[in-house]
Amino acid sequence: MAVPVHGPDEVRAAVATSRAAQAGWARRPVRERLRIMARLAAVLADRKHEIADRVRAETGKPRIEALAEVAVSADLIRFYVRAAPGVLRRRRVGSGWLLHRSARVEQEPYGVIGAITPWNYPFILVMDCVTPALVAGNGVVVKPSEFTPSTALLVPELGRAAGLPDGLIQVVTGFGETGAALIGAGVDKVSFTGSTATGRKVMEAAAKGPTPVTMELGGKDPAIVLADADLARAARGVAYGSFFNAGQTCISVERVFVERSVHDAFVERLAEEAGRLRAGSGPDADVGPLVNERQMAVVERQVADAVARGAVARSGGTHGDGTRVFLPTVLTGVTDAMAVQTEETFGPVVTVTPVADEAEAVRLANGTGYGLFASVWTGDRARGLRVARQLRAGGVSLNDVLSHYAVPGLPMGGRGESGFGSRRGVEGLREMVRPRTLLVDRFGFGREVWWFPYAPAGERLVEAVTEWRARRGFAGLWRAARVLLGRGGKA
Ligand code: NDP
Repeated sequence: MAVPVHGPDEVRAAVATSRAAQAGWARRPVRERLRIMARLAAVLADRKHEIADRVRAETGKPRIEALAEVAVSADLIRFYVRAAPGVLRRRRVGSGWLLHRSARVEQEPYGVIGAITPWNYPFILVMDCVTPALVAGNGVVVKPSEFTPSTALLVPELGRAAGLPDGLIQVVTGFGETGAALIGAGVDKVSFTGSTATGRKVMEAAAKGPTPVTMELGGKDPAIVLADADLARAARGVAYGSFFNAGQTCISVERVFVERSVHDAFVERLAEEAGRLRAGSGPDADVGPLVNERQMAVVERQVADAVARGAVARSGGTHGDGTRVFLPTVLTGVTDAMAVQTEETFGPVVTVTPVADEAEAVRLANGTGYGLFASVWTGDRARGLRVARQLRAGGVSLNDVLSHYAVPGLPMGGRGESGFGSRRGVEGLREMVRPRTLLVDRFGFGREVWWFPYAPAGERLVEAVTEWRARRGFAGLWRAARVLLGRGGKA
């Protein structure tokens, strides 16, 4: 599908259109917005095959994986329909020593959110941003990846079918320059999902505003397999976590650390699993093609470099049949001198390294600048949780992989070079609002004691407040009263 390359003027116009629609959308009661969002979930279900076809046409991923994008997105909408009233409600807070005031916090939408998204989950990653943004009362302008614009272009259409106001969701298409133009087009927040390198550029551009950002960046996720793990499950799980979506998942498993006593047995099972998978471009393949030649080149380069330096491919290591198909690859004998062990691969390649114990596993797992996700495989839950809590990661699974995405209440976010901020979950909705605080005077006295002109009574009050607020209970009140009555004396 040919799409236009939007320049700065068109991007600014898209932001203005979204902003015009947003004003009325934000004024609607939350419940009304949620009714429309609930209809959007139903529209997704009605048109699931059409959406999956678009995803498949642009990425080539297996049909089940394309359909999963719709399921995950519909589930997230339903989650927010339930959770949003609690998160977005206005709340009273105590007014402290200002007894004659009432204090409130309201949740105000930012206005227009600029969503810059990658190609690996072209529907989910757009909906992950669009859904909470709209629920919160924002408009959104999406700049999808140059490789997957047509999936994103479907989103405003689905929105219209559900009854969302015209213009509220805008999609601008083009290359990186269009994304850069979006940041400079007056959006009120940028939600960026993509590589760490681009994320840095986005932050630099956003600093000019300054425009707030959330950064969902790359990863090099570890799996730790302890000696007491169910090796059959661990091998199947790691294979799924490494090769799902041909490894083009930010939270895919790229490095495995296995306790030495079970290392060989684990490698054998994992290589067996990998060898069994059907890699190809057909709808029924287990492992689909890589999305583009650029990605293929990265994978080929990393694997060739590792093998040239002494790594051994226990399965795969080369192309499969079909365009851009790389066979599921298990590498052993890797070192930190190899890019495959330190840089994000984003392909169907996983490395396996033996470790002496839990402590070494944790040290090596935490050994990159990334900190997105991780998994721990063990028969001992307490031990697994202990290891999990030592990992530098935004999320950890025990005896499981990738399923975080099936739980819409779990926020996704990274540490270090994997970024910051949250997507999904209640935290993801909070990213789309900012607090507006309201403090109302209830009595309307002519003046406050501490206002100009300064007088001894004002000073006594400030001193008394210090005594009252700093000490608990009766002691504080007693001292405050003494100060007010002029009996406290200065220290
Ligand atoms: P990129 O960083 O290359 O691109 C991401 C988006 O940014 C694209 O829309 C791209 O447009 C746009 N872009 C490129 N240059 C600029 C710029 N200077 N200013 C503004 N926008 C720009 O990532 P990929 O698309 O290759 O996606 C893969 C990456 O995404 C991986 O690193 C992966 O780990 C990460 N990712 C992270 C997730 C997370 O939740 N942490 C989830 C999914 C992916 P264009 O494509 O047109 O160049």
